[in-house]
Amino acid sequence: MSGTRRRVRRVADAEKAAAAAAFLEGQEITRTQCVQCYSEIAGVNGRYACGNCGWVNPWTEGHKPLPTAEDDVQVRECAQG
Ligand SMILES: [Zn+2]
Repeated sequence: MSGTRRRVRRVADAEKAAAAAAFLEGQEITRTQCVQCYSEIAGVNGRYACGNCGWVNPWTEGHKPLPTAEDDVQVRECAQG
């Protein structure tokens, strides 16, 4: 009944999780009210998409600049490989 659990976690998964955690630390969860249906919605860094009616706010209303393709390490790795 003990010690039979298989180890499925790989180093790559741990690195991915650490990278994701580091990325999320720099993000801020913000809340607002949808201008169309008045639902309370949550977004990231002041950018919102309403799951109720589909309203999205303009990207320029975000609190931080959007990441560029160069910020996406995974895309770069795929392009090289
Ligand atoms: Zn809405």
